[in-house]
Amino acid sequence: MIKISGYAAKDAKSPLVPFSFERRLPGDHDVQIDILFCGICHSDLHTARNEWKHTLYPVVPGHEIIGRVVKAGSQVKKFKAGDLAGVGCMVGSCGTCENCRDNEEQFCTGGTIFTYNSADPNGGVTYGGYSKAIVVNEKFAFQIPANLDPAKAAPLLCAGITTYSPLRHWKVSKGQKAGVVGLGGLGHMAVKIAHALEARVVVFTTSPSKKEEAHRLGADEVVISNDTDQMQKHAGSFHFILDTVSHSHDLNPYLNLLKRNGVMCLLGAPENPHPPVSPGNLIFKRGSLAGSLIGGVRETQGMLDFCGKHNITSDVEVIPIQKVNEAYERMLKSDVKYRFVIDLNSLK
Ligand code: NAP
Ligand code: ZN
Repeated sequence: MIKISGYAAKDAKSPLVPFSFERRLPGDHDVQIDILFCGICHSDLHTARNEWKHTLYPVVPGHEIIGRVVKAGSQVKKFKAGDLAGVGCMVGSCGTCENCRDNEEQFCTGGTIFTYNSADPNGGVTYGGYSKAIVVNEKFAFQIPANLDPAKAAPLLCAGITTYSPLRHWKVSKGQKAGVVGLGGLGHMAVKIAHALEARVVVFTTSPSKKEEAHRLGADEVVISNDTDQMQKHAGSFHFILDTVSHSHDLNPYLNLLKRNGVMCLLGAPENPHPPVSPGNLIFKRGSLAGSLIGGVRETQGMLDFCGKHNITSDVEVIPIQKVNEAYERMLKSDVKYRFVIDLNSLK
């Protein structure tokens, strides 16, 4: 076993603190990665504070990981020591169920093994990227395009794929109007990717201070979502709306903006449910309310290659790990532009 230092939440109420634990030695198909950077996703906070009621403590969050391969098992084909590699939200799946065979490992019916807070088939619980190193089967490690800055590319491993996957699944493209609700970590990636897909992008934000920046990120229009007049101007006009909000909120004002056959896709997973949806908001336009979960392994590499080609990375604020608790509080206040990324060099 290898001794690793990291940061963990030990219960729902206390701040994250230094924590040391063990990882397996790399097997024939594994790579051992020294972690350089790890993004802070709102899911880390939901989990650390047990908002989804399934946290196994102590939990070491972090699933937007970029690092350097230091060891590669004898059967590893994609990597050699010295390569840059990424790890996202998953580290394993059964590989044989219908969803795995369709390269949608995130829906593995045998049980996706998530990067943290999952039972680890090798024993214990999986620990994430708020740590010095990770050992992972090479299938769940990704090649990072050489032109992308590693700190800014880290958030692609969750925020990038989570927004790319539905935008591709619902074929958002030129000539379409796409909405992005919430300009946080996921939201700002959605804006960049939808813009690269040549859709007309409209951002819905509760933060008037983000208006100018939204344009810089690629938005064609910005709507302050609690301004009813501004919202009403867009009634019945959207092909697609991607909702990235981390808190419970009323979906009806957005469903009202869909056009015939329009789709609203939920990504945010708040602690408490949204208020009820009024059926008429869907029936009278054959609208759909959908959801999406990260993306499969093949699609994640496709997203990274797409971002490499279009030079898309995240706007980040790099912090030492000692500031992780402060970062959580700021994220709750939507005070981050637009993703905190931990520099693991700060952890001894
Ligand atoms: P984030 O950076 O905190 O962004 C969330 C944004 O939502 C905020 O920046 C804010 O945008 C808006 N918001 C926050 N509170 C709000 C409120 N009370 N009412 C309206 N808007 C509010 O979070 P994130 O990392 O992007 O994650 C967003 C959500 O997606 C989380 O619930 C996370 O767990 C979930 N998630 C889901 C998946 C998946 O696979 N489906 C993957 C990753 C994350 P404005 O300031 O612009 O209003
Ligand atoms: Zn995430």
